[in-house]
Amino acid sequence: WRMTVGVRVPLRLADAHGRVATDLRVSLTDRCNLRCTYCMPADGLQWFPTDEVLTDAEVLRVLAIAVGQLGVTRIRFTGGEPLLRRSLEDIVAGAARLRTRSGGTPELSLTTNGIGLDKRVTALVAAGLNRVNVSLDSLDRDRYAALARRDRLDAVLAGLAAAEAAGLLPVKVNAVIMRGHNEADVVPLAQFCLERRYQLRYIEQMPLGPQHQWDRSQMVTQAEILALLGERFDLAPAAEPRGSAPAELWRVAPDDRQPGGLLGVIPTVTGPFCAACDRTRITADGQIRTCLFSRTETDLRTPLRHGASDLELAELWAGAQGLKAPAHGIGEPGFVQPTRTMSAIGG
Ligand code: SAM
Ligand code: SF4
Repeated sequence: WRMTVGVRVPLRLADAHGRVATDLRVSLTDRCNLRCTYCMPADGLQWFPTDEVLTDAEVLRVLAIAVGQLGVTRIRFTGGEPLLRRSLEDIVAGAARLRTRSGGTPELSLTTNGIGLDKRVTALVAAGLNRVNVSLDSLDRDRYAALARRDRLDAVLAGLAAAEAAGLLPVKVNAVIMRGHNEADVVPLAQFCLERRYQLRYIEQMPLGPQHQWDRSQMVTQAEILALLGERFDLAPAAEPRGSAPAELWRVAPDDRQPGGLLGVIPTVTGPFCAACDRTRITADGQIRTCLFSRTETDLRTPLRHGASDLELAELWAGAQGLKAPAHGIGEPGFVQPTRTMSAIGG
């Protein structure tokens, strides 16, 4: 809360473009056990020094401020690979004890490559996890291994099956389509997900991977993905309004080989959803980022470690969010890729 002309007004993560962030992406590590070509260089990256990564207690304090003081209602744990954080279950349990301003529990979700999820999903659900997104770019073992630079398809499929069995429904699947690599997976991934009632989202490749690798002319667009799907399925735009959800949804008519359902495309580049964005982010090393593509960030870790009060930290965050840019600007002449890559931001 803050006092304005003698009245207590709730703090919130509002910006100058009419948006209010209620969805927090919190990165728990910059490390990963895969090396997806669109995300990381083959040799990995220079990881953050351990003492710069927020501790469990610090993460939970940040979450408490976000939920209790700033009106966040949804928290997504990401990374790097969040399952590499051994204390993930404890962090989820701590987050599940928080209460939103309306007295509810924040919705807790996880974005993961799925490796090792089979062994931990029961404990994660017991801790309070509500939803999971598993990244899966190919169902072909060789193509998966080429894209992720690790031969781990079986582990990912085991993780997905375990998430379904544990009741994290609907299971969501994210797939990045890369030209010359996995266009052949567009239809099989859809078939696989429709059959199992998983919600599949294709993601346009964003300029957040190894520097200078992204080339707009090489990116597989939403239009191309829909054209590939249209060769096999009977598709129609879904009636649901898009709202702040980034995916554009398409309804697949049932046929003799699949039961029908919804497929989504996240057209970050060709159909940005910036005007409806309700996100804020905190990196594993405690920096506030208001957008994936921010070129500036606000250091929360230093004041957090030097005695700032919850209110001071909340005001710092609200101030940073107030400066959120209206749009990511990909495609504008002055666009410059952020220095951090996706795994160091938290996708
Ligand atoms: N390691 C976890 C995973 O892969 O799901 C969580 C972090 S990862 C950075 C989050 C999501 O970002 C994944 O679905 C991944 O495919 C996506 N991603 C990474 N780099 C991307 C890029 N350059 N363009 C589009 N999506 C990307
Ligand atoms: Fe790791 Fe996820 Fe990046 Fe792949 S996309 S390298 S799994 S952080």
